[in-house]
Amino acid sequence: MEFPRVNLHIHSNFSDGANSIEEIVLESLKLGLDYIAITDHFTNTWKANIIKTLNSRRKISRYLDEISDYQEFLRSKKLPLKLLGGVEIDLRSSIDYIKNNIEIDRFQLVLFEYLQNMKDAVKIERIIKYWKVSIDSKSDFPIIGLAHFDPGYLIYNYLEDLIEFLKEYDIYFEFNYSYSQYYSSEYRLFFDKLKEHKIPVGIGSDSHSLPYLANIKEPLEKIIQYNLEDNFQLLILKLRELK
Ligand SMILES: [Zn+2]
Repeated sequence: MEFPRVNLHIHSNFSDGANSIEEIVLESLKLGLDYIAITDHFTNTWKANIIKTLNSRRKISRYLDEISDYQEFLRSKKLPLKLLGGVEIDLRSSIDYIKNNIEIDRFQLVLFEYLQNMKDAVKIERIIKYWKVSIDSKSDFPIIGLAHFDPGYLIYNYLEDLIEFLKEYDIYFEFNYSYSQYYSSEYRLFFDKLKEHKIPVGIGSDSHSLPYLANIKEPLEKIIQYNLEDNFQLLILKLRELK
């Protein structure tokens, strides 16, 4: 099966990445990527003191404006690359901080990082429910994924609950280039469940600089190893449907 080249986890210099959005877009074109998402960090934990983050509504607005300028550039030149405006939300952030700063209908993709227990899942549920009532039309709702989630936290005691949660909120599971230990065959049962329940899966390199942009081969190999091609296809369909 031929798949489009997808990297939905990229950091720019709006947070702790080394490159501008422009550099990322131009390099992605050169590398022949088909879909990319810029997903800069959003957090109000201790991390916000040591890395650059999207730390104000003004900055987020500038970030999204810049992304839309490049979306417009790609569209007007009919270039074969689709760019998504995304964010990586640290689940240890306070709910109010998330609610007050993330205008959800301006994003095409949201990654949540550090899901470690079912309480975190309930937190995601609360945030998604809040967002869903805060927007007008359902079609504007972004794609939601789990960034570098370690299945080991939940699969031994909460596998059914976890799968139920992912299904109910249509959340995809990311194969992340930088965390290959999370895709060990020790977790096979989890991957079988993803397949059985048709949970979408995606690919992210967690790129913080240009040489990491095209690191999508290993995650794709994992997808193939666990027979999750149809699940990847589900995510690709969502990407194709984006305006
Ligand atoms: Zn990241």
